[in-house]
Amino acid sequence: YHGFTNNYPRNNDKFIDGLLPPGFDQKSCLSRYQLNLYKKPSPHYPSFPLLSKLRRYEALHSRCGPNSPSFRRALVSLTSPTNSTSSSEDDCKYLVILTRDGLGNRILALLSAFFYALIANRVILIDQGNILDDLFCEPFLGSSWLLPSDFPLRHKFGSFRQSFPGSFGNILKNGMLKKTIEDSPPPYLYLHLSHDAGDYDKLFYCDRQQNLLKKVPWLIMETNNYLVPGIFLVSSFREELNKLFPVKDTVFHHLGRYLFHPTNDVWGLILRSYKPYFSRANEMVGIQIRIFGSESGSIQDQMNQLLVCTQKKKLLPELEPSSPVKMNSTSHKVKVVLVTSLSAQYSETLKEMYWDHPTVDGEVVAVYQPSHEGIQNSDSRMHNRKALAEMYLLSLSDVLVTSDWSTFGYVAQGLAGVKPWMLYKPEDKVFWALQQWLKYRTRNETTNDWPCRQAVSMEPCLHVPPVCDCDEMKRRDAGNVLPYVIHCEDASWGLKLG
Ligand code: GDP
Repeated sequence: YHGFTNNYPRNNDKFIDGLLPPGFDQKSCLSRYQLNLYKKPSPHYPSFPLLSKLRRYEALHSRCGPNSPSFRRALVSLTSPTNSTSSSEDDCKYLVILTRDGLGNRILALLSAFFYALIANRVILIDQGNILDDLFCEPFLGSSWLLPSDFPLRHKFGSFRQSFPGSFGNILKNGMLKKTIEDSPPPYLYLHLSHDAGDYDKLFYCDRQQNLLKKVPWLIMETNNYLVPGIFLVSSFREELNKLFPVKDTVFHHLGRYLFHPTNDVWGLILRSYKPYFSRANEMVGIQIRIFGSESGSIQDQMNQLLVCTQKKKLLPELEPSSPVKMNSTSHKVKVVLVTSLSAQYSETLKEMYWDHPTVDGEVVAVYQPSHEGIQNSDSRMHNRKALAEMYLLSLSDVLVTSDWSTFGYVAQGLAGVKPWMLYKPEDKVFWALQQWLKYRTRNETTNDWPCRQAVSMEPCLHVPPVCDCDEMKRRDAGNVLPYVIHCEDASWGLKLG
């Protein structure tokens, strides 16, 4: 190990274009002001309105956050609404986010909640013990984002699910809106926006319903999805969102870099991989292979798919089959391939290929896989730390290959600010062939994009989009409403910003 010998332009701006405020203690969270040292400067700049919105949010969080007098008053209004002493000048409203499932899902949920809190002027709080608080540092100076453990509604969290009778969606569905919300706004409401959200739950993405929610001081939201494309559909938010995000597909990239700072334990894992294995790289290619049980097909099929993709799209160099050594190669280039997967098989095969043979252009390819955990084990702290470290390592890549449908990959691509090459789910092969045939029949241009294609944007996909219009609950295609809210390449029914 000879220090940082690669020729990356380093980013010396530890405040990343003004996204991060100064003033945090550096030692307790080294990644916050150090990640920039390992990342090329992003070509995507946050807008000035976004920077000032974040500064105003920080002021709000510090005024209303846990331990503030406003917070204590808001708690009183929650337990005994009639005794409410909160004055209108307080005006502190809250969004408690409950996340679920794997780490990628939880990170998308958390970022969505922050995005919503920002645009709806609410203070975001996360439930403790949900695996995220162990992985990320506090993002807001001088005030915590952790919901205090004695929060009075905590005992109810276990009963919050799609069928919870008092959920926002069920209140709307049962026609209790006027009685329950309009006449006297309740102190809190539960919003169910996970994968099994119903049509009424998804009225959350509508203007009229947002107008009602404004009156409710506490919202408890559960999700495992990326809600941002849906929130863009709310027309009353649109003018401000256009100012905050003039380039639409940068939402995750900016807010992710603002909000997420791995704790020192995770940062150690990241550095102990980066320094020995990646610092020599001229180019870093990140490959994320997600194994979704038997749906993913055999390892051999997935391996073939990966090899065809990386060769066809020229992401990895070709091998010289005959010569054992490249005599007069002038290339000193080192390409480092980072593989993340639950199985070690893919990186083993790649490693062997590039050790057994030289490449045609003499470029040297080094393959590295930090872990191969075998199975998802989200109850283990170390397992989750490794998963997060690998998402961050992937996000340092110049080129990314990810797996369709995987929120793990979405997080990496969003943080990286890179449009990944996405590997089709193997089961989509028949469907894909049929589509090509139909395009051919209708003399549409055929695109030879099996087994992977480049994403249209670096944004994650909302897998459970609203499918009804806001007034009559009739089916409508939400992917036809705004030019920049489009269908996802890997989930044709889903929505993403692009
Ligand atoms: P998704 O299921 O692909 O959408 O991604 P999630 O992150 O929500 O859930 C998958 C979980 O499985 C991860 O959070 C990890 O716990 C584990 N996992 C899957 N792939 C990998 C991998 O490549 N590396 C590591 N360390 N863990 C993985």
